[in-house]
Amino acid sequence: MSLLTELKANLAALDHASQRRKRRVVSSPCAPQVTVDGRKMLAFCSNDYLGLAAHPDISSALAEAVQRLGTGSGASHLVSGHYDAHEKLEARLAAFTGCERALFFSTGYMANTGILPALVGRGDAVFADRLNHASLVDGALLSRAELVRYPHLDLDRLSAALEKTPAKRRAIVTDSVFSMDGDVAPLGRLLELAEQHDAWLVVDDAHGFGVLGEAGRGALAEAGLAHWRIVMVGTLGKAAGVAGAFVAGQADVIEWLMQKTRTHIFTTASPPALAEALLAALDLIEQGDALRHQLAANIAVFRQTLSLKRWSVSPSRTAIQPVVIGDNAETLRVAARLAENGLWVPAIRPPTVPAGTARLRISLSAAHRVDEVRHLAQTLNGLEREQ
Ligand code: PMP
Repeated sequence: MSLLTELKANLAALDHASQRRKRRVVSSPCAPQVTVDGRKMLAFCSNDYLGLAAHPDISSALAEAVQRLGTGSGASHLVSGHYDAHEKLEARLAAFTGCERALFFSTGYMANTGILPALVGRGDAVFADRLNHASLVDGALLSRAELVRYPHLDLDRLSAALEKTPAKRRAIVTDSVFSMDGDVAPLGRLLELAEQHDAWLVVDDAHGFGVLGEAGRGALAEAGLAHWRIVMVGTLGKAAGVAGAFVAGQADVIEWLMQKTRTHIFTTASPPALAEALLAALDLIEQGDALRHQLAANIAVFRQTLSLKRWSVSPSRTAIQPVVIGDNAETLRVAARLAENGLWVPAIRPPTVPAGTARLRISLSAAHRVDEVRHLAQTLNGLEREQ
């Protein structure tokens, strides 16, 4: 078999397992009402939890900055691509999260794949929740440290693994809000374990930053946690509505990451105008209590309206409200029926989630109206009876 014949057979196998993914083409701004593949739909897909992705204040800040600074940064941060806008943004992110210093990255994927190899290496061990985001898994693999994956939220198993590890250095790594489940990690207990076993605690707050905690400072602020051994990752393409990510922590730790993180060093810095847009986004997040209240109201209405028997709604208090259906084909069928009703909800299948737990990943936003959220829940109730 030639390489190409084999590849084509593998694509056919994806079709057979209902695992072939398709991209839908959006032609309107990110918002609940979108035009997708030429059709108007009500979307419950984005991570734009506060509805900032098309906010006029951020768009104006970006447009003004592009006029002033142009489009490209020209080089990596350590060569000549680090602008005053980046510097201001990092200082602002550090102050906002209550950390000593922050380091800006182009994406959350790059932050996560970069920092673990800078913190641990051969002879060390990474202890990771089994449902962590793929970027954390990839970062651990790149580090060449032993990767020990513990069952989701099972701190007894984590503790036992830490007890018996011969590793020289240890890192415990977790999502704060799990991206496909919406539940929140017990960060205080994880920090206790990190202290007991002298480990780093890397917390990926991609889905908590902007949403959880006072003024949206994130899951660590909500839990009241600060420590030199905590390395916080926040992403800026979700609640912040723009793009990028940051790592925040103790000043020497961040200095080390700036020196050693390959995904910060060997890549062109993101356009400085984006950093200006992010400063405007941080203003809106900081003043965004009304948005966070609207989001909380939408979450409550969704959960109260849903009455499922066979399918299950995950125990989540966050904007991520998955409905677990189980079977891949049934999940696709339900997503297609929702689409016929003008509702756009992504069907998430293995390998993104464990086999047998295919689901609709519903994400709610402050930009949704309560009646839109209720309509989705009622439609789901009806579709379950129909299947
Ligand atoms: N961490 C988590 C938990 C995520 O859900 C994501 C994105 N889906 C990332 C990291 C990656 O962030 P980015 O999209 O900025 O690359």
